[in-house]
Amino acid sequence: MTDLTRMTATDLAGLVASGETSAVEVTRAHLDRIAAVDDRVHAFLHVDTEGALAAARAVDERRAAGEQLGPLAGVPVAVKDVLTTKGVPTTVGSKILEGWRPPYDATIVQRLRAAGTVMLGKTNMDEFAMGSSTEYSAYGPTHNPWDTDRIPGGSGGGSAAALAAYEAPLAIGSDTGGSIRQPGAVTGTVGAKPTYGGTSRYGLVAFSSSLDTPGPCARTVLDAALLHQVIGGHDPRDSTSIPQPVPDVVAAAKLGATGDLTGVRLGIVREFTGEGAEPGVMAAFRESVDTLAKLGAEIVEVSCPHFRYALPAYYLIAPSECSSNLARFDGVRFGLRVGDDGNRSLEEVMSLTREAGFGAEVKRRIMVGTYALSSGYYDAYYGQAQKVRTLITRDFTSAFEQVDALISPTTPFVAFPIGARTADPYQMYLADLFTIPTNLYGGPGISVPCGLSEGLPVGLQVMAPTMADDRMYRVAAALESVVGTFTPPAL
Ligand code: GLN
Repeated sequence: MTDLTRMTATDLAGLVASGETSAVEVTRAHLDRIAAVDDRVHAFLHVDTEGALAAARAVDERRAAGEQLGPLAGVPVAVKDVLTTKGVPTTVGSKILEGWRPPYDATIVQRLRAAGTVMLGKTNMDEFAMGSSTEYSAYGPTHNPWDTDRIPGGSGGGSAAALAAYEAPLAIGSDTGGSIRQPGAVTGTVGAKPTYGGTSRYGLVAFSSSLDTPGPCARTVLDAALLHQVIGGHDPRDSTSIPQPVPDVVAAAKLGATGDLTGVRLGIVREFTGEGAEPGVMAAFRESVDTLAKLGAEIVEVSCPHFRYALPAYYLIAPSECSSNLARFDGVRFGLRVGDDGNRSLEEVMSLTREAGFGAEVKRRIMVGTYALSSGYYDAYYGQAQKVRTLITRDFTSAFEQVDALISPTTPFVAFPIGARTADPYQMYLADLFTIPTNLYGGPGISVPCGLSEGLPVGLQVMAPTMADDRMYRVAAALESVVGTFTPPAL
């Protein structure tokens, strides 16, 4: 019998729609796989067995009643623990929200349910999505299915690992500086950060509100596009949501799969010299550039002189916004409360709760952000960083006058061993060297597997203009049509 966990979401939806298999069978196969391997991977923080089977049964009943099912009906999906799920634990990888069951679903979760997808559970992540390895989860690290001694990327390492371990065919991530794309790259899976405002932030626990972008993760470009189409589009409950329909990313992925990029101009960023990147990563990238050229793309070098300031600007803007957003975790409204013995002041209880509930990286960000926003320092730090953000946006605007999309490696290094970069925060921050400019600009970016280095996956990033998400899917699908998908060694 074919192993349902090895199939694409597209194929699974086809089998369910035709009645060759049921949504319950598909769901059980994935729940069994989770039971068999997740003690070694730890992709999930919570598996919602009952909820998943109930959702699957509902799809099967709708089909039996003759209803026309949507393109992903009956397909399981794993959801990063940063999105609220009604009645289902949502921790954001933090002790401060341990045991919290939100009273409402995030818009994306609502749309997933309405589309008939089956939520398997919530995936592990760096606490509050701050990190690049999932080692900063308060619930222990996730392991990369390619080598369980290595990190699966972060912050959305749980979602990416669930895909690579065949525990789920689809997953949801969120990308503030690279947290969808970098885990995709190091696990050999596909991760897309939509245009900022193209996917709803309603019910996404906020880290840095001007950057946070939820998006799709999958094992193929077409599957990611189908998921993007289901979750994307205007949401009146998110004030920065763009009131326009999602570009036709599914058609673009299908067009790209024909392997023809004639007439497409792709830019390589001159300032991404490869300095600081592993030679094996750069070699895989260069080989992919040759492949894209053979498919008909014209390759052009463009200059983005301010990209070198993206990392420092991000590490002022993101912590500043986080220091403000995380003020709501005060021991009064959600989750954990420490020291409330009737003798302590409110302020003492808040301090004790935050002291016990937040991990070291989150505290570091809150302190940096509070400092950068404080009077007397605001102009020198936060104000300067905002100016840099404008200059980076101008770099993108001028680049997109010359080319249709930009390409780069997704991340400078392959999956590193667990523990290798936790001693020095800056070493961890470097993981997002190539992904952060896109977040500051607000455009879309995708990571697609492009090769191996030392037996570990390497990702290629495609960056497109805002609301031209379709372009990146076309390029990514074209590359995938040549290099194929990547299967890790058996767990
Ligand atoms: N690694 C980056 C950080 O730690 C990006 C995280 C993200 O995209 N959520 O902030």
